[in-house]
Amino acid sequence: ATDLAVADLERWVREFARTITAQRELLTELDSAIGDADHGTNMHRGASAVVAALDAAPPAGTAALLKQVGMTLVSTVGGASGPLYGTLFLRMAGAVGEGTLDGAGFARALRAGLDGVAARGKAERGDKTMLDALIPACDALDGALTAGGPFGEALVTAAAAARDGRDATIPLLARKGRASYLGERSIGHQDPGATSTALLLDAAVTALAG
Ligand code: ADP
Ligand code: MG
Ligand code: MG
Repeated sequence: ATDLAVADLERWVREFARTITAQRELLTELDSAIGDADHGTNMHRGASAVVAALDAAPPAGTAALLKQVGMTLVSTVGGASGPLYGTLFLRMAGAVGEGTLDGAGFARALRAGLDGVAARGKAERGDKTMLDALIPACDALDGALTAGGPFGEALVTAAAAARDGRDATIPLLARKGRASYLGERSIGHQDPGATSTALLLDAAVTALAG
């Protein structure tokens, strides 16, 4: 059975930070079309701070690690995405104990994170936000695990659902955040936050599905 320890979650977070850094220009370019051209910069600032905090004081437990990541994101990212990604990790922290997690525990924690983002941002599916990647990812993860599939395969399915959700934001009209100020002109552009959330799921595959 899957047994995710603090070192596994740390690998996931570090891989997320690595891909955010690698993709920061794309994220900013996407945000320049329907926002204020800072999503890559915002997320990169947070990713660097998260890695620095892990290097300086790696937490000993799973909840403590997720909490440190969330607090660091809230205090360094700025913009809409800082509190939202911060909430995602803080709610995950609140949903786990300090010990190892099985696959279902990880899925429950991610769902708790999703619920936190939805409560904080008051967005729904189809509003053209990061939730359009996160909701299908959680649904796919739960579905695959309920069907009895192995955790690694369930993560692969979840990441594919996140990428599909990201792509499906292109024709949507933005109803939340800065992009909503554009009204109809937000149509035809991929949402930056859904794009970074797809990276979060891809990072989970790389770090945890092996
Ligand atoms: P800002 O818009 O403040 O400059 P960012 O550019 O870093 O912040 O992040 C923009 C992203 O945040 C959007 O692409 C969208 O996915 C996400 N976002 C904005 N508002 C909300 C919301 N209310 N709920 C969920 N996600 C949101
Ligand atoms: Mg922005
Ligand atoms: Mg901004």
